[in-house]
Amino acid sequence: MVTAAFQGIEGAHSDVALRTHFEARGDKVETVGVPTFREVAAAVVAGRARYGLLPIDNAIAGTFRDGYDLVAQYDLLPVREILWRMDHRLLGLPGSTLAAIRRIEAHPIVLEECGRFLATLAAARAIPAVDTGVAARDVAEGGDKTVAAIAPPQAAERYGLVELASNIADYPDNFTRFLLVEAPVWGQETTPDGTPRRTSLLFAARHEAGSLARILTLFADAKINLSKLESRPRPGKGWEYLFYADLDCDARDPDAARALERVRELCAEFRLLGSYDIASPRAESATRASERTSKGARDPSAGAGSPKAAADLPSSAKNWPKAARPSKPNGTVVRVRQVDVGGDGFIVAAGPCSVESRDQVIVTAQEVRARGAVLLRGGAFKPRTSPYAFQGLGWEGVELLAEAGRISGLPTVSEVMSVDQVERMARSVDVLQIGARNMQNFDLLKAVGKTTTPVLLKRGLSASLDELLAAAEYILSEGNPQVILCERGIRTFETATRNTLDLSAVPVLRERTHLPILVDPSHGVGVRRWIRPLARAAKAVGAHGILVEVHPNPSEAKSDAEQALTFADFEQIMDDLGQIPVYPS
Ligand code: PEP
Ligand code: MN
Repeated sequence: MVTAAFQGIEGAHSDVALRTHFEARGDKVETVGVPTFREVAAAVVAGRARYGLLPIDNAIAGTFRDGYDLVAQYDLLPVREILWRMDHRLLGLPGSTLAAIRRIEAHPIVLEECGRFLATLAAARAIPAVDTGVAARDVAEGGDKTVAAIAPPQAAERYGLVELASNIADYPDNFTRFLLVEAPVWGQETTPDGTPRRTSLLFAARHEAGSLARILTLFADAKINLSKLESRPRPGKGWEYLFYADLDCDARDPDAARALERVRELCAEFRLLGSYDIASPRAESATRASERTSKGARDPSAGAGSPKAAADLPSSAKNWPKAARPSKPNGTVVRVRQVDVGGDGFIVAAGPCSVESRDQVIVTAQEVRARGAVLLRGGAFKPRTSPYAFQGLGWEGVELLAEAGRISGLPTVSEVMSVDQVERMARSVDVLQIGARNMQNFDLLKAVGKTTTPVLLKRGLSASLDELLAAAEYILSEGNPQVILCERGIRTFETATRNTLDLSAVPVLRERTHLPILVDPSHGVGVRRWIRPLARAAKAVGAHGILVEVHPNPSEAKSDAEQALTFADFEQIMDDLGQIPVYPS
């Protein structure tokens, strides 16, 4: 029995497409419906389903960018394409007639696809539904004979409905192209079985005259047909474009691998999503099967799953396979709204240790933003050593932080201390912080792992790097790939500094994991004047950014006053680091 996740509920087109696909191959399938496409990806990564189904194209509506983006973001392995004809039928309750129908429910795109037919039913109103399965179920449960749904014929069987009309789409050849995806495993390679393959790619050409033409020439010279090329603006990078390309080739073919490698050199950004089997109706027209080889990695230059990369890891890496570098050789870039954490960039997150008042957090947000901070961090639930110390403003603090985020335009980060806070916190802020004291609160790690919100995971006070990576694994294994690690100092015999900032953690982590790493010199040293040199050191040693505490009036800070930077201190640090404000002030 194989399990496969799809977006929607039973009887939706995706569900029927999955069943048809597996049953035709003689496999028994259990389909798992989830509310969003992101949750399809998360279910596959978390192992709740072996396969996931993501749409990438529709013959009428065009590209579903979400499909491509989720494959890239969750580093999924496309296995094959499924081409599915969207066979739309009008379904009603037994006993109802076409003439009696007053309301028709369907997915908004489906309503558009059946526009001509709907125009012939002057008395019926079209009502958008979440998906075709939900529309059919609502009709069945509603018991109203004047209501009908547009859904696949299989939904009629499932919900006890009858067909009032068939062939109702404006264009009967209305195909959706889906990718069937799996979670990648180290060294995993699908074995070529003679089926023609297609390769999907996301790339941004360099901002130079002729760079796209050079890229296309490389494909032409390698006799690789482009079955699709489409562009869209790169998020957060005005007037730069990301191309979505499908190539009729297998990236493991040596000629194709060479061409792709040369293309990579011409690109500002390059993500090979993978090669997969082409859906059968078009299969005959594709590549040179004779030239295919089983050698080579999924990504020609990345060494995915190569034995060498794996050999550099300690044996304890078996406890954190999803966090280990080989599972994502190109590195994870965590996107927090418009901000990328990871990759080649260096970012600064700043804000008060505790949110204390509306003024304090809004002023801090604006001042740090003007100096180049890109994330606003403020605590509302504070883990304090003494129960008599200020514990934070709680939800009121979260609301104030969110307001400061809205006013300044900065995405927000705040600590979540218990499982019951996770859901509400995830709705209020952009990044969930797990504090050092909770690094091994496994229930909490699992709970944030079930969300789709990025997580900032701080290293525990006396946690080894192995334990930090195993903690990250808890989050990844629940299906949330967006984890940022944070070195914030550990307990040693030294008492001159609040903690000992373990900067050697950075190169070690960069080698062992694909997750981005921030350094928090504020908690690392605990003394204002020593934060500046350590911020520079963090950048020098290869961190993806720093996290620092800033307060309008440090002497009055209700927590961590000795380490709070003034705005002037913060400005000096930003100058040192060469960080420039990215938002107009
Ligand atoms: C904090 O970031 O304010 C904090 C409490 O940090 P840590 O969990 O690293 O002590
Ligand atoms: Mn603090």
